[in-house]
Amino acid sequence: MSKVFVLDAENRLLNPIHSAQARQLLRNKKAAIYRRFPFTIILKESHLSPVQPLRLKLDPGAKATGIALVNDATGEVVFAAELKHRGFTIRDALTSRRQLRRGRRTRKTRYRKPRFLNRTRLEGWLAPSLQSRVDNIKTWINRLSKLALIGAISQELVRFDMQLMRNPEIEGKEYQQGTLAGYETREYLLEKWNRQCTYCGVKDVPLQIEHIHPKAKGGSNSITNLTLSCEKCNLKKGTNDIRDFLKKDPNKLQKILLQAKKPLADAAAVNTTRYALLEVLKATGLTVECGSGGLTKFNRNNQNLPKNHWLDAACVGKSTPFLVIKGVKPLLITANGHGTRQSCRTDKYGFPNRHCSRTKFHFGFQTGDIVKAVVKTGKTVGEYIGRIATRATGSFNISTRNGLVQGISHKYCSAIHKKDGYSYALGKI
Ligand SMILES: [Zn+2]
Repeated sequence: MSKVFVLDAENRLLNPIHSAQARQLLRNKKAAIYRRFPFTIILKESHLSPVQPLRLKLDPGAKATGIALVNDATGEVVFAAELKHRGFTIRDALTSRRQLRRGRRTRKTRYRKPRFLNRTRLEGWLAPSLQSRVDNIKTWINRLSKLALIGAISQELVRFDMQLMRNPEIEGKEYQQGTLAGYETREYLLEKWNRQCTYCGVKDVPLQIEHIHPKAKGGSNSITNLTLSCEKCNLKKGTNDIRDFLKKDPNKLQKILLQAKKPLADAAAVNTTRYALLEVLKATGLTVECGSGGLTKFNRNNQNLPKNHWLDAACVGKSTPFLVIKGVKPLLITANGHGTRQSCRTDKYGFPNRHCSRTKFHFGFQTGDIVKAVVKTGKTVGEYIGRIATRATGSFNISTRNGLVQGISHKYCSAIHKKDGYSYALGKI
């Protein structure tokens, strides 16, 4: 188990403790549950002890972001999470809204000339789907900083470190990804050459770093002279000049030579979302360390760790200690948003068929809360835990692990975790 966050009676941050210790405190009534996700307990007495700061590490991705809290002194991963973003949902919802509005505007009106370029965007504007990714991460930094003492932040900012690659010394060892510069170079080449063999286009096979103008004939180690090829093509080409090797395919030769000359400042290395996130992180006032994707991979492979989002996050940056990950279970967080404001819902053809009340809260509950219901009488006697859908009548539905239970009165329900825009699950070790 990951560790459990602890607060004292005055809401002061304490060192996270082992889950067995937390269970004992709860059993002895010395603490109460403060929050379910992430699991946090609050002591019933105030407690003053020195607290060790942790490092918050982030690996932002398009679909999911890895989050890890690491104790730099011991290398222990105290908390790990994978935050799934809703970027594509937002894009689809906005497209749907735009189309509906366009249809409505033009339905019974005279022709109007399109007016365009008549809106300004603030500096630093991001598309809503990208902004939501930044905001999701911001939310979780805020939440975690209320549960654990965060002393520093590490973020993976770029895919590869240009500085390290200016003059890579590609010698024997680097072919097997020996040093950090070798990792950065390989990551860069994979991106530049589309993760496939330059000569035959084969994918998903081990690729070797290849000199376009062979070294034996005076070719340099400069990044513009390097490409990737499969073992077969590499052997076949040998020390042949590329012009001889691709004599029969001048088109491909032209393409490869052009692609090789493309400058280092490649668009693939720059990611606006990551830079926007960096600004958010800097605004916290903590020291922010930036790492590259090559460095993350280098750290991960050196410690023989599998590839997943939270381990990638834990491996970000030069500060990475030898990680202790025994028993760490990541919290899988999915961003779901806060629902819709529509009060007239339609069937799949767009015809209105039901109505939702304007108020979200009914009897202190709202749709999306996780509740425990203990029903003692009637047809649905039993104990249920799950997400509720509320109704103005006070008769709720609970979606439990074993399916949907309908018609549970609000009187039997008690909230376990109030709706906060995210859903949770526990990942495998
Ligand atoms: Zn090949």
